[in-house]
Amino acid sequence: MVAPLAFRIFPPAADLCPVFLFSALPGLLHGRLLQAPADWAAEVRHLLLDSRRVGLPAGALFFALRGPSHDGHRYLPELYAQGVRLFIVEEGRALPGGLAAYPAAGIVAVGSPLAALQAIAATHRAEFTGPVIGITGSNGKTIVKEWLAQLLSPDEDICRSPRSFNSQVGVPLSVWDLNPERHTLGIFEAGISEVGEMARLAAVIQPTEGIFTTLGTAHDAGFASSEQKLAEKLRLFQGPQFRRLFYCYDQPLVRAAVAHERLPGFSWTRHAGQPADIYFALDQSTSGTTSLHAQYTRVGLEAAFALPFSDAPSVENALHCLAVLLHRAVEPDEIQRRLARLHPVAMRLEMKLGRHDSYLLDDTYNNDLAGLALALDALGRQSRPGRRTLILSDVLESGLSAPELYARVATLLPAAGISRLVGIGAAINQHQTLFAHAPATEFYPTTEAFLATLDPNAFAREVILIKGARRFGFERIVAALQAQQHGTVLEVNLDALSHNLQHYRRQLRPGTKLMVMVKAFAYGAGSYEVASLLEFQRADYLAVAYPDEGVALREAGISLPIMVMNPAPDSFGTLRHYRLEPEIYSFEMLKEYLSAFPVAADGAAVQAALIGHSGAPAIHLKLDTGMRRLGFDEADLPDLIALLQRYASRLHVASIMTHLAAADEAGHDDFTREQLVTFRRMAAALEAALGHAVLKHALNSAGILRFPEAHFDMVRLGIGLYGVDASGRDNAALRPVSQLRTTISQIKTLPSGRTVGYGRRGTATEANRRIATLAIGYADGYDRRFGNGAGTVLIHGQAAPLVGSVCMDMCMVDVTLIPEAKAGDVALVFGEGLPLPELAARIGTIAYELLTNVSERVKRVFISE
Ligand SMILES: *Cc1c(COP(=O)(O)O)cnc(C)c1O
Repeated sequence: MVAPLAFRIFPPAADLCPVFLFSALPGLLHGRLLQAPADWAAEVRHLLLDSRRVGLPAGALFFALRGPSHDGHRYLPELYAQGVRLFIVEEGRALPGGLAAYPAAGIVAVGSPLAALQAIAATHRAEFTGPVIGITGSNGKTIVKEWLAQLLSPDEDICRSPRSFNSQVGVPLSVWDLNPERHTLGIFEAGISEVGEMARLAAVIQPTEGIFTTLGTAHDAGFASSEQKLAEKLRLFQGPQFRRLFYCYDQPLVRAAVAHERLPGFSWTRHAGQPADIYFALDQSTSGTTSLHAQYTRVGLEAAFALPFSDAPSVENALHCLAVLLHRAVEPDEIQRRLARLHPVAMRLEMKLGRHDSYLLDDTYNNDLAGLALALDALGRQSRPGRRTLILSDVLESGLSAPELYARVATLLPAAGISRLVGIGAAINQHQTLFAHAPATEFYPTTEAFLATLDPNAFAREVILIKGARRFGFERIVAALQAQQHGTVLEVNLDALSHNLQHYRRQLRPGTKLMVMVKAFAYGAGSYEVASLLEFQRADYLAVAYPDEGVALREAGISLPIMVMNPAPDSFGTLRHYRLEPEIYSFEMLKEYLSAFPVAADGAAVQAALIGHSGAPAIHLKLDTGMRRLGFDEADLPDLIALLQRYASRLHVASIMTHLAAADEAGHDDFTREQLVTFRRMAAALEAALGHAVLKHALNSAGILRFPEAHFDMVRLGIGLYGVDASGRDNAALRPVSQLRTTISQIKTLPSGRTVGYGRRGTATEANRRIATLAIGYADGYDRRFGNGAGTVLIHGQAAPLVGSVCMDMCMVDVTLIPEAKAGDVALVFGEGLPLPELAARIGTIAYELLTNVSERVKRVFISE
């Protein structure tokens, strides 16, 4: 039996034109029925926002949401073709192909589909009478939510937001999963970036209790001040149903605001003598564990606990959870048993290279239905060629019977294109027959049994999702399948990348296209993964410097249009074959192009090229307006125009572009404005000669922020995507994307007077200095200029200065002041706490160089929270 999470569309009564009536509650959604569905009794089982994630079309209700760079209405034909039959669209928007294109669909127009989504979720939420905990704050929301769910799972059947689904659309989707007949507790997180957003989330979540994690400086852009941000966040905790807010008394702003708003609070402190409900005395925090003493005076409770970690954020997150458990009067011994099982690392999906050219999606943190669906979704998004294998442990889902659960799991597999299932665990074994429709299956009772027979060769060239609950220890499978790593890793955070992309998108007027520069291995981050994400996020264009880079992207399955900035004349055949579009910046190149495609490009052939058949590729004309590097000068225009007109039938000009010489430097703004004026003039002359408008673009990342009046039809985002604002203005709004880290190979203690390394340049002066050798050198891209004290790395969060010269494969740092440092520990080279612009300045270069220097031998690991 599938849970009755459905409402029906009823034929409108004569006097009731608004058409949605909920089956359980007479909630009414105001809308106008544009077209009646063929099946009036169609039940809505899931809410759908993304045409790329249809999964099961039967029972899906699609909301056509609109954002600055996205319009859900565009995907109606695709959705209809996939079998989706229920749509909520925006009043007044034209539907592609008109209503007649969707003859069997039920379509309702509303003022705001987003508001409709939220209203439906809110009505659904109101049917649930159990407690609901809402979590907000600047950091730690997802971890606190996950941990609390783990800690309370022996007592409750919990519905919680999957991963960090905490936005205006993520929250309604999360709340929709709440099943009044099955769940006993809801835990949902809410994240906002602007004033006004929290009230809407509060109406959906309707929390009865709340947790405020921390007030940080993240995402400050949408608020005038910290006070305003805090006041906005606290709006989650309003309404007659709200009973209790758990918060840390040691945050003065939060404390004051809770008092001012008269919120019913339950607080904890780490300082003796404060009037908080619970006092936590941290006895000791040594590497790996923390012991503490809790005092809950009102109920006369004192107890000692040990946490299985020692880093400050984890301890803070655990204390929030501990406060909730103590308030719920869970026995201290029982709490301790549950705490011991908490996992200190953030749950996240990691993507990395496997052995024999396989590619691993490593998700070994938890395994319930919602998490599995998300992981399969990530797998489905991979354009990489190769067979899809899922290695899956027993699914831990409370409330469903095992046959029901595995039947549901089986329905999730086809949409992700799984061609082989490896099931591990007693429960999945018992239900093998439910997977009879999967193309290939193997089952093992335990992880050990699988490892005993594992042959990595049998997974060659596959894309493998490894999804297991923690107790199955699937990290051992990952280790067996993963390519060898030497100690240095560049970790690329794909969520940070998406965040930065949205930041730049918000600067654009609707309709402005976005080209993203993925040249130089995507600024060192890894071309395929970045391009794949951009494709998913619907960027309009990619650009690379050389044909080879474009070819690699095509071979990895990337299908977005790609511009090549430096096409060699002999590469035109390759460009055509791979549908890559050359930038043409000189007469020589234009002539080469024309002779490479002597007859190809009549209008039809060009059209064919654009949609992926062979034919001459479209071209991008580069104008030199002051950069003095590449491009046609203004004096070239008459000749260029003559050529364009003469070969009009053979040329398809996709865009006209220029590049600014100093977009990031205010001191040169007059020069920049002059470049833009020249560009407008030259582009106008070209368009007049061609007889039609052509895409125009001029701005790089810094330009996008600094010259909004010159966005034209498209902008070219580069370093900003990777988390650095070259103009230095918006760095706070961007998230760092890459983190380079290495490990300590060995530590030596040096008596005074000894020197370190080549050329004896590092002189140890004081007695007994401790010198750590790190597994990174200039061959990994760690600049020699960092040697001899110019650079520092972070070890256990503390700065360790470089000693001596940077060698080819290693370098040395002084860890005298970091006594806990030992061989095998991690050293951060750049990332959070060591910002790229600052490091670059120390050696007289720019962040671009540090990013692109990270050599290809350094393993990239891609994470997604
Ligand atoms: C690299 C490049 C960009 C992007 O520059 P950023 O400063 O990284 O944003 C834009 N346009 C052209 C022509 C480029 O070569």
